[in-house]
Amino acid sequence: MTISQAAGNVCTVSALNTKKQQTANSVESEVIYLPNTDCAIKSQASLSAFTSYRVGGEAQLYVSPRNVEALQASLKYAKERDLKVTTLGAGSNLLVSDGGISGLVIATRHLRFSNFDPQTGQLTVAAGESIPSLAWAAAELGWEGLEWAVGIPGTAGGAVVMNAGAHNRCIADMLVSAQVLSPDGTLETLTPDQLGYSYRTSSLQGGDRIVTQATLQLAPGADPAAVVAITKQHKKHRLSTQPYNFPSCGSVFRNPKPYSAGWLIEQTGLKGYQIGGAQVALLHANFIVNRGGAKASDIFCLIRHIQHQVQERWSINLEPEVKIIGEFQGACG
Ligand SMILES: Cc1cc2nc3c(=O)[nH]c(=O)nc-3n(C[C@H](O)[C@H](O)[C@H](O)COP(=O)(O)OP(=O)(O)OC[C@H]3O[C@@H](n4cnc5c(N)ncnc54)[C@H](O)[C@@H]3O)c2cc1C
Repeated sequence: MTISQAAGNVCTVSALNTKKQQTANSVESEVIYLPNTDCAIKSQASLSAFTSYRVGGEAQLYVSPRNVEALQASLKYAKERDLKVTTLGAGSNLLVSDGGISGLVIATRHLRFSNFDPQTGQLTVAAGESIPSLAWAAAELGWEGLEWAVGIPGTAGGAVVMNAGAHNRCIADMLVSAQVLSPDGTLETLTPDQLGYSYRTSSLQGGDRIVTQATLQLAPGADPAAVVAITKQHKKHRLSTQPYNFPSCGSVFRNPKPYSAGWLIEQTGLKGYQIGGAQVALLHANFIVNRGGAKASDIFCLIRHIQHQVQERWSINLEPEVKIIGEFQGACG
């Protein structure tokens, strides 16, 4: 038996490439469709709703394909127009500048599919599937292996790229293979040893390949109630130790082993320090939270301030884990 889910409508073939749309203020604007699909390319799309920080300017162009063919068409569209491509998962590890992103932003959130194969114990998922949803789905089936991931609010694709991890586990530990799409439109299946994994790092970071799908090795056959209970414990622990009540990107800095970034920041006296609407979280000093109305530049300048202070006090360079995208030059005066 194979248990599969596919969410959302698949982009279908459409004869239309452009059509006029009536906007709220009655000014006609042009919606561009990817050739031969019904995927709309939006211009000047606000990204703040698509990042967990709830900040950031507009994408010059934005598309959210629902299948690999539409993703390939998106890349072709960008290539033909010499547009820079930026890939967006759930935006839970991104700081997008107030000035936004030029070129084409390709969001993977609508690439949806998941397949639990009891014969192999493998879970194959499309890049846009939500990691917490997968953790709960696996737990409810009695499949062990993803309990640790329940508090990571990203997509499967983002987790493969970031080598997301918690509770001493990470995606690289269980990844069987990842399917990636190159800018020329070719698909390739890669194993973890081809992905250069280490702590929160992979060779996919900063590159131009897009993860379309991942296969994870899990362990079926456990008591679902027991796996759900462990998953709940992890979630509870996260909620009590990390500030989930304000927008954030999770941990801002990598831990400079043997230290934890949070400890260094706290010892530097920066807990609660605030620039504009951005604050070093009181509950966990490696989180910067948006207390309301923060601009991307507030968060960026707080990151730089923390780095400067920690460098002064400890001679340690804190390296951001969060991906900083767009123009911040001159943001901090
Ligand atoms: C409250 C909170 C708690 C968190 N806790 C943790 C934690 O415990 N452990 C942890 O590791 N992280 C944690 N994070 C950070 C974040 O959730 C992870 O890094 C996550 O894996 C990012 O996935 P995403 O889909 O949101 O990626 P995004 O933030 O959208 O993107 C991250 C990077 O990956 C690239 N990318 C995304 N998808 C693809 C794709 N399909 N193909 C190619 N490139 C892609 C982007 O271009 C970007 O460079 C937390 C974040 C929050 C807000």
